[in-house]
Amino acid sequence: MSSARPRVAVIGLGSVGSMAAWRLASRGADVIGYEQFGIAHDRSAHGGESRIFRTAYFEDPEYVPLLRNANTLWRQLEAATHTELLTLTGHLMLGDVSSTQMANVSTSIDQFGVDAAVIPRDEARSRWPQHPIRDDDIVVLDREGGYLRPELAVLHAARRAEALGAQLRTYTTVEGIDTRDDGVWVNSAGQAERYDHVVITTGPWAGKFLPDLAPVIDVRRPVSAWFVAKERGLFDPATFLCFLRATPAEWYGLPAMDGSGVKLGLSGEVNSPVADPDTLDRTVSVDEVQTFRALAAEFFPDLYPDPVRVTAYMEGYTPDGHGLVGQARDEDRVTIATGLSGHGFKLAPALGDITADYALTGSSDNNLALLDPNRFPTAPTAPVDK
Ligand SMILES: Cc1cc2nc3c(=O)[nH]c(=O)nc-3n(C[C@H](O)[C@H](O)[C@H](O)COP(=O)(O)OP(=O)(O)OC[C@H]3O[C@@H](n4cnc5c(N)ncnc54)[C@H](O)[C@@H]3O)c2cc1C
Repeated sequence: MSSARPRVAVIGLGSVGSMAAWRLASRGADVIGYEQFGIAHDRSAHGGESRIFRTAYFEDPEYVPLLRNANTLWRQLEAATHTELLTLTGHLMLGDVSSTQMANVSTSIDQFGVDAAVIPRDEARSRWPQHPIRDDDIVVLDREGGYLRPELAVLHAARRAEALGAQLRTYTTVEGIDTRDDGVWVNSAGQAERYDHVVITTGPWAGKFLPDLAPVIDVRRPVSAWFVAKERGLFDPATFLCFLRATPAEWYGLPAMDGSGVKLGLSGEVNSPVADPDTLDRTVSVDEVQTFRALAAEFFPDLYPDPVRVTAYMEGYTPDGHGLVGQARDEDRVTIATGLSGHGFKLAPALGDITADYALTGSSDNNLALLDPNRFPTAPTAPVDK
């Protein structure tokens, strides 16, 4: 590092970037953040009012320590900003006992002591009558689960970063970076600025920003649909638990934050591809609406089946469904955290803290093998000016 107080740029102030700016500023860095839109805008991966938090992790039990770090940091951000961001009402995982997902949930419980348990079906039906529990479902209650408020979280992390001295430049697109002997140069608005370290958190734009990543990141367009309850109060956020169903296609639901009903979403490849994140088609087709309508009608007779609101967002998925977090190949002054594959919001503060580890100390104590950004043949090399 060339100065006692390292100068760090964060490119992309969405879910992870806002948290990176906060963590870096609170750990003493001189932070400049760049965001092409406003803070907590509605055009990328973090819109739609709610995100699930869960700890009995079906994607891989190795996430559990990271999830616990994230939980601690969510609480720190709440305390620092006097804002409730994470509400742990519990999370239900529903699925087939023989699935890999359920095996991972069970390892999370056995190996890491996650506070979760299998609930007998009859008991589950009487405790959560709104939930569609079928005769072949196994039901796991994750008491370390609940929901997050993504826009508030991004906004407050960014504001907290500013309160700690970070400068955030909104409506400022970074065109590229250039690694030189004297530092990493960030090119934006016709000017180049020098930094000791650059953190790249450009989310769905990662492949566009770092062309080496384009073959590794498949940008998709998840749709969310909101439904209204026939009886007010039945799906109240305090009592209606978020859930994820793996049977075998994955889909999930959360209470609507105003208590009016439920938000449903579909995971992964059923979501259509996005050719260019700059031209995301946000119009939800009648066919897409019909898919949601059929799902609601089949599983939730207590909801009116026509969605009252539908929205399309974007996310970058990697081939194995795990993010890319760490230093760029051959360039330890550039850290990336992206490709979070549809499940990264809950991890955002922990990932932001990891980018601060790399920027400030050159390494991280977290076990990040699963997220190694260089595990695919085409991995991020030292980025060059575009
Ligand atoms: C509909 C939906 C539901 C989801 N549900 C869940 C869930 O329940 N639980 C969960 O944990 N995760 C969930 N996820 C996943 C989670 O939301 C994402 O993994 C996470 O938001 C990705 O964060 P990010 O920082 O990579 O991207 P973003 O939050 O999109 O941030 C990237 C930012 O970079 C900015 N940017 C890009 N390029 C540039 C540039 N050149 N210059 C300046 N700024 C730039 C963008 O404008 C954007 O603000 C869901 C995702 C979607 C889309």
